[in-house]
Amino acid sequence: MTTIAFSLQAVRTRVELAAIQFGRPPKDISILAVSKSQSVERIRDAVAAGQRTFGESYAHEGEKKIFELADLSLEWHFIGPIQSNKTKVIAENFDWVHSIDRLKIAERLAAARPRDKRPLQICVQLNVSGEASKQGVTSEEAPTLLLNLAKIPQLQIRGLMTIPKPCRDFGEQRQEFKKLRELKEKLCQLNLPLDTLSMGMSEDLEAAIAEGATIVRIGSGIFGERVKATPRGIVDNTTGAS
Ligand SMILES: *Cc1c(COP(=O)(O)O)cnc(C)c1O
Repeated sequence: MTTIAFSLQAVRTRVELAAIQFGRPPKDISILAVSKSQSVERIRDAVAAGQRTFGESYAHEGEKKIFELADLSLEWHFIGPIQSNKTKVIAENFDWVHSIDRLKIAERLAAARPRDKRPLQICVQLNVSGEASKQGVTSEEAPTLLLNLAKIPQLQIRGLMTIPKPCRDFGEQRQEFKKLRELKEKLCQLNLPLDTLSMGMSEDLEAAIAEGATIVRIGSGIFGERVKATPRGIVDNTTGAS
């Protein structure tokens, strides 16, 4: 068994235990393996251990890996900040985008989505912690943005995503995720067909599952701690809890 297979199994066990503890069917929660800064060889190890969905934060790094792993028919999720000059690369290569926070970016993605592919599956990123520097829209901005996105045929709205500020206290972690769950319930009352809550990372997946996460995004829990700079010069400056 590779280290990655072992870590992946440990994450699956954590997800299942949390699901049982909080009264949720384990099959309602999927693990997105966050493979940013990881080599294709390490991704292949995760695939060999049964993982099919991967998350990337940098458009060109993701594009390269998707190309190199095209033999495997994997599902790819874009989870990083989106610059407008990267929308074409993202729309042509990825299946999901979790980090929509502007209509203009979404329209560019839609325009560049190849017509022979199914609509891009999208989540709107929320800034529930209210930190000025963070990506994401406020709860007040979310309904209008989602109602507009729902009209775009090349996009299929799926739900909400958030990256709360890192914190160690379970109760506080849960508070942040609860805000996302309540907002999703409110949006569903507006007849928006949302079935996804993308929340929870290696350090807080249990709190996220307690509040209804359907996708947990796990990087270091599967691949180990990230190296801060790769030979390609990518600096990992995420503010994740790891
Ligand atoms: C890096 C990253 C993750 C994974 O974080 P870990 O703490 O390594 O599990 C999840 N979501 C986003 C948006 C990320 O950028």
